[in-house]
Amino acid sequence: MTEKSLRIGACEIHWLSGGDFRLDGGTMFGPVPKTIWQNKFPAAADNTLSLCNDPLLIRTPSMNILVDSGLGNKLTPKQQSVFRTTDWLLLSQLALLGISRQDIDLVILTHCDFDHAGGVVMVGEDGREEVTFPAAIHLIQETEWQDVASPCRRAQESYWPINFNELKKNGHIQFVHGDRELCPEVRVRHTGGHTRGHQLVEISSQGETAVHLGDLFPTHAHANPLWVMAYDNFPLEVIACKERYFAEYRKLDAWFTFYHDPLVRACKLGDKGAFTDQWPQKKEKSDHPATA
Ligand SMILES: [Zn+2]
Repeated sequence: MTEKSLRIGACEIHWLSGGDFRLDGGTMFGPVPKTIWQNKFPAAADNTLSLCNDPLLIRTPSMNILVDSGLGNKLTPKQQSVFRTTDWLLLSQLALLGISRQDIDLVILTHCDFDHAGGVVMVGEDGREEVTFPAAIHLIQETEWQDVASPCRRAQESYWPINFNELKKNGHIQFVHGDRELCPEVRVRHTGGHTRGHQLVEISSQGETAVHLGDLFPTHAHANPLWVMAYDNFPLEVIACKERYFAEYRKLDAWFTFYHDPLVRACKLGDKGAFTDQWPQKKEKSDHPATA
C-alpha cells in the first residue's frame, strides 16, 4: 500500500492524476464564509484553491474499474489558462501499474461535468479524437445522459459536447436506472444532488467498505452536510444525501474516498463529522500545496 493506494479486502484502490486545476474558494464552499472554511482548506493569496481531479482505479479480483476520468487532453489554451490546469497523466500512471488502455473493463462516470468526464475521449497521436478506453463499458445514469443530451442553460457550461461526441459514435455506453451491482465487490447507486443523475460507487470486500460520493463530498473539508458547493445544482438534495449516506456508511466503518482533494485521499467519519482515520496519515500544514 502506498500513499496513492488503499486496500479494501480483495480490492485495491489507486488514485491517478487526472490533472489539477484552481477554483475560486468561494465556489467550493457556497454559503460558508471564508473566515470559517479557510481554517479547513487554506486558499492562496488570490483566493483560489489547488484541487486535483484524480480518478480512482479499482482493481477487483476480476475487473479493472475506473471511476471518472480527469480533465483529459482536449482543453483549449484559454480553458487551460482560466483553470490553470496541469497535465492529464492518467494513461502514463496506468502504464506504471502495468495497465493499458485496453485493460480497463469499466468506466463509471459519477456524473458528466467536464472535470469528471473530460478523459473518456482523448486526442490521439494523429490529432483526432478517440475513445480513451475502447474495450470499456461506460456506465452512466440514464437521467444524467438525458441532461447531457438536452442540458439546461446552466449545465451547458459543464456538459461539453467534445467529451461525448466520439463516445456516442464509437464508445460502449450502458445506462443505469437507479442502483446496480457491477461485480461482487462494486455497485453504483443513484444519488442526484450535485446533478440530477449523479451516482455513488460502493466497494465492499471481506467485511471492509469504501464509498465514493463523487461531488457530494468533494474534499475532506466538506464533512459538514451543510457545506455545499456553488456548483451543486440541487443543494438541498446534497444536504439530505450527505446526512443519509454519512449515517449509513459510518455504521459500516467505511472509508469515504475523494476525487478533488490533494491532501486527503480518504477518511473515516465519526460522530459530528470528526475523522476517526484518514489516508494518507496526517502531515504538517506546511506541506499543504494550496498554500504554496
Ligand atoms: Zn467535480
